[in-house]
Amino acid sequence: MIARMPPKAPLLAALLAATLVLTARAAGDDAEAGRRWHEHLEFLASDAMRGRQTGSPEHLKAAEYVAAQFKALGLEPGGEGGSYLQPVSFAWRRIDEPHSSLELVFPDSTVPLVLGEDATISMALDEPQDLNARAVFAGYAISVPEQGYDDLAHADLSGKVVVHIQGGPDAVTEPRRSQAQFTGERWARLREKGAIGLVTIRNPRRAEGGGNWARGAAQRFNPGMSLADADVDERKGQKLGLNLNAAHAQRWFAGSGHAFEDLLAQSDSGDALPAFDLVPRVHAKIAYEKKTVTSQNVVALLRGSDPKLAQEYVVLTGHLDHLGVGVPGAGDSVFNGAMDNASGVSSLIETARILAERRPKRSVLFVIVTGEEKGLLGSYYWTRRPTVPLGQVAANVNVDMVLPIIPLTNMVVHGVDESTLGDLARSEARAAGIEILPDPEPRRNLFIRSDQFNFIRAGVPAIALSAAAVPGSPQDTLLKAWTRDRYHEPSDDLSQPMDPAAAADLIRFVARLTERVANQPGRPGWKDASFFKRYAATP
Ligand SMILES: [Zn+2]
Repeated sequence: MIARMPPKAPLLAALLAATLVLTARAAGDDAEAGRRWHEHLEFLASDAMRGRQTGSPEHLKAAEYVAAQFKALGLEPGGEGGSYLQPVSFAWRRIDEPHSSLELVFPDSTVPLVLGEDATISMALDEPQDLNARAVFAGYAISVPEQGYDDLAHADLSGKVVVHIQGGPDAVTEPRRSQAQFTGERWARLREKGAIGLVTIRNPRRAEGGGNWARGAAQRFNPGMSLADADVDERKGQKLGLNLNAAHAQRWFAGSGHAFEDLLAQSDSGDALPAFDLVPRVHAKIAYEKKTVTSQNVVALLRGSDPKLAQEYVVLTGHLDHLGVGVPGAGDSVFNGAMDNASGVSSLIETARILAERRPKRSVLFVIVTGEEKGLLGSYYWTRRPTVPLGQVAANVNVDMVLPIIPLTNMVVHGVDESTLGDLARSEARAAGIEILPDPEPRRNLFIRSDQFNFIRAGVPAIALSAAAVPGSPQDTLLKAWTRDRYHEPSDDLSQPMDPAAAADLIRFVARLTERVANQPGRPGWKDASFFKRYAATP
């Protein structure tokens, strides 16, 4: 709240008194919204929820809590079978590392690799127990012929495992570069070319590389998952998925006439990369536990007040799942995921409270998804098995990790320039005194890296909200420290400093934006110049 000047004239005093009453009431509502937000957070991010792992009994409890909140607010069930839940079946797998091995087989020698140090094996796909295949290096493994770049054009990938460095050349511009790297899009191209596996090397020096090997490797005992329904499994046909430690990657290139360091340097410069066969065959023996688990999307409907427009839906999304429990013994092992993304879900419950009173014209559908941390699987499932007609979805706003740890004076709105939905977000932000900042990491293109991208792929105009701060400000330092110290760590828990007033501001912003979108005469649309319009053109 902005401090007010003392009144100087009776009339002004009367006006100000009236204003102060309204202001005090708004402040009281905000304090109440912040308090309720924190109450949801305390439930969802408690140690008892054990990190809300996809498919766990605790995730189900969390989903039932969220459903009960929506029900208490008068929202209708929007899931399957007249319930608030949409069950999603997952193939669940956990590596049995002592019984697994990985080696590079050269014509005259065999080099064993150490799991966890040299490489980790993806559990997101159905690996055979024994795989012996030739390997090919294919640059960035992206195919963007319309921009004159194609790593896959001249390499023979048939029956081979494809090794690549994550990223793309400067010649390929965003967002095409990130889109070409998106799991489902990339594997579709590789599958067409006959590839059977994908080996990823993250460039430790690139911002998009996530250069921390240890952090990723520590997650390798976390179960991997894929959608059990083969019709919606985008990695169908992939038999091997590895991540390599860049520090130990050179041995894959022995005898090829190429040094890994040189390739990395080329990638650093944003250059194109060559494609060539590798000398060793990859031999993998993979043992893992496997079972089928069910996890739930929570879907709740606030029916629109206009008989005609109520047939259209503004979909608000946020993921409920997180990383579960890590290796016990090493201190705190519960990945509470308070900010990622119990906070976002808690905000959406309170957004529903405001909207339920205001009854916007279009319907508002809350889709609280599972399986985000497993590769955006719950949101993908919903867009493939939607519980309302997908063609009637007017817009999607995703709330994932908006970090109410600093005041909400700035925000990044991913996709703000792409659609008229972005224009509405800009206008609402201005009205709320929130400044929209440019994306500080455009190369990472987070617009295509969370649940909203599955809606975009289904043709729906979407935006995603992010906390932000002016570069170099103390708030910026706090955000960066959070990402460094708490992101995907057990310390993203209830004991961290947080700001309920910022959460209340977010809740009010999302509610006002949603109401605005829902009450507009026409649906939002992609801008003609937007890259993402192509998805709407081919439903
Ligand atoms: Zn996460």
